Amino acid sequence: MEEKDGWLYVTVTKWVWDKANLHRILSTLKEQGVVHFRDRGYFNIDWDFVIEHSRNKEVCFFCRLLMLPNKKTKDHLIPSMVLKAYGISNLPNNKVPCCYDCNQEKAYLMPDVFRRLVRLKLHETGDRRYEEILITLNRLIYYGTNEDIGGGKEVH
Ligand SMILES: [Zn+2]
Repeated sequence: MEEKDGWLYVTVTKWVWDKANLHRILSTLKEQGVVHFRDRGYFNIDWDFVIEHSRNKEVCFFCRLLMLPNKKTKDHLIPSMVLKAYGISNLPNNKVPCCYDCNQEKAYLMPDVFRRLVRLKLHETGDRRYEEILITLNRLIYYGTNEDIGGGKEVH
């Protein structure tokens, strides 16, 4: 866990998290109210982008399609079960407006894993909707090394 520019960086190694780290993360989370998740030291979420991109509650965060009232849902960018494993009950800005279809497909996946799935589906179907989701995910996820935390964003 590292701190820079008022942001908290949390290293997330999927499904293998140590409990001692969890308690330190929790206490800092409470003070800061903000967190950057890093997956295996490489994966960051651009929370500024999340806030901006989820402002319009009528449009799906991922596919950008206008949602019918009965198709409106909310997605947890970092899945609740992942947060629960850390004992985190509330992560600011983590809930985004999401259409029923995207929510079904993303389910409990982390954003980077969802991106892999979407790439596959785009390849298989050529559906323009997946193209749109991919654009969102490419802006959402960025990578950095330990040396340039908080530095230049590289979109992969
Ligand atoms: Zn959608």
